[in-house]
Amino acid sequence: MDDEICPGCRARFDRCDGPTHPYIGASAACWTTYGEVLAREYEDFNEPEIHRLIVDAYAAQHPGTESRQSTQSVAIHLIGLCSRIEKGLPAKAITIQIGKAVKRGGFCWLTPPQDLGTITIRDICHATDLEDHIRRVQGWARSVWSAWQMHADTVKRWAEGL
Ligand SMILES: [Zn+2]
Repeated sequence: MDDEICPGCRARFDRCDGPTHPYIGASAACWTTYGEVLAREYEDFNEPEIHRLIVDAYAAQHPGTESRQSTQSVAIHLIGLCSRIEKGLPAKAITIQIGKAVKRGGFCWLTPPQDLGTITIRDICHATDLEDHIRRVQGWARSVWSAWQMHADTVKRWAEGL
């Protein structure tokens, strides 16, 4: 069986030669699965609140290696997770908050945890209906956010401009 483990979420996928993202640290197969989840999200579910959570959880679970773009990407997607999970902010408010945080800048690279949680995009792509999809995405997002707990205070500071 020709398979490989995604360097971000550590899920095992059949090897695939598709494209990868320039700084999100995902294997081609994982990145393809993510694209399929987003396409289904857009076509079947169309839930902007859940969409935001998927984008944030996926990027935070695939931090990649240190660079200017990955540093900012990890920062803003962790702010997104924090604002939703800890503060319950809706997607629109999170987007505004992230815009302000990016303007302030000053992000630094957060060394990713060894373990980024056991729930991955592979669990999300098997949702049976909208309710199941929402439940899976919420569990995934909480799991990713809790994996990053050692940096939670820093992320909160960035989110609130303190
Ligand atoms: Zn992955």
